[in-house]
Amino acid sequence: SIPLSYFAGIGKAAKEGILVKGANFIDALSKAGVVAFDKTGTLTKGSFKVVGVIAKNGFNEDDVLKFAALAEMHSNHPIAKSILEACKVSGSVESYEEIAGMGVKVKVNGDTIIAGNDALMHAEEIEHDTCRVEGTVVHVAVNGVYAGYIIISDEIKDDAAKAVEELKMLGCRVVMLTGDSRGVAEIVARKLGLDEFYAELLPEGKVKIVEKLESENTVVFAGDGINDAPAIARADVGVAMSGLGSDAAIEVADVAIMDDMPSKVAKVIKLSRKTQRIVW
Ligand code: ADP
Ligand code: MG
Repeated sequence: SIPLSYFAGIGKAAKEGILVKGANFIDALSKAGVVAFDKTGTLTKGSFKVVGVIAKNGFNEDDVLKFAALAEMHSNHPIAKSILEACKVSGSVESYEEIAGMGVKVKVNGDTIIAGNDALMHAEEIEHDTCRVEGTVVHVAVNGVYAGYIIISDEIKDDAAKAVEELKMLGCRVVMLTGDSRGVAEIVARKLGLDEFYAELLPEGKVKIVEKLESENTVVFAGDGINDAPAIARADVGVAMSGLGSDAAIEVADVAIMDDMPSKVAKVIKLSRKTQRIVW
């Protein structure tokens, strides 16, 4: 049976904007040894800005941005939003495919446009530049021809540093799992003083790492996007952050944080431990 104090704990968490979906998760939260975070939208603001455009193969910079915007018109990804902010377009979309953790493939105004990362270009066999820049690179291909790339940069949330610090004080190892490139991940991990990070992961890759971490520890995984839903479902405690809000992530989560503050993960672990002390 579930101690009554667990329900009091759930009530306290709710007042902080943290919805714990069952008393059993109080127990698991209190035992957390590893807290793994998604990067984009979870530790970073996810408010990307276009900071550069490089054109290739006879395209110009405006073309690259325009084709990317046409491809991203129907995506909710933070990357897509930044491109649409930099370039307003309209077009008639004939087919649309969003490939989680990679990008989009769209047929619009008669052109087939692919916009996304290295992995997507490999999958689509598009010869492209491999570049190491301080930012996320979105490659663009039009009708099978590489058009160039867009450089986008994101910012770390102020609250992320607080989250890492508090979790470390609670004795948790803090890990980041991201679909973004190793170069970008490394910068974020170093700035935040993370214990460990894994980059260039597809949604199933995040699940694999969660499983690996779970072989030794009780694992909390917190993410925000549709690409995080499988790992949220798999983790001992799956947390959805609803700052940017993917319904799929919230649906499978054990805990939903109603704002975009990663430090709420530390808060709910603290609350759970307190709740358990009351039981004994
Ligand atoms: P994270 O795990 O950091 O939240 P995602 O899994 O959402 O990152 O995305 C991983 C990578 O996939 C992004 O860094 C980007 O390169 C690419 N990507 C995903 N969705 C899109 C999109 N709509 N347009 C362009 N690139 C995308
Ligand atoms: Mg994310």
